[in-house]
Amino acid sequence: MSVGGCSEEGCQRDISVSIMPGGNPVALSDPESWAFLHARCLKCGRCICDKCVRQKMTQVSVLRCSKCGGALEVPECEKNIRITRYLADQAWAGKQYERVVDILERLVLFGVELASSEAKKLEYCRRKLEND
Ligand SMILES: [Zn+2]
Ligand SMILES: [Zn+2]
Repeated sequence: MSVGGCSEEGCQRDISVSIMPGGNPVALSDPESWAFLHARCLKCGRCICDKCVRQKMTQVSVLRCSKCGGALEVPECEKNIRITRYLADQAWAGKQYERVVDILERLVLFGVELASSEAKKLEYCRRKLEND
């Protein structure tokens, strides 16, 4: 299920709010086009995907809506966090280090506390990328 696209200019991603256990298979097969994490403006209701949030590289809680300046909130998304963690695991298994960093950093931005195994992976991948 989609709640619509990301509202940031130039972003074509759809936002997936899955009601299916295990996630929306269409979204899961194309995680670049679908966002599992998003923030919503409390004032005007715009939705902003996790990639656009990451581009601003700060905590969601201190970001403001670029249209109206309203505060952003992160909707209840425990299941989508689980899916995002799963995507990071997959990237890790496939040795896609850049992707692991990308996904785990997005989780951190959304206020998710990483498990120690995830923090280690993030550390490892960052170092790996620096040395390349
Ligand atoms: Zn707004
Ligand atoms: Zn976006």
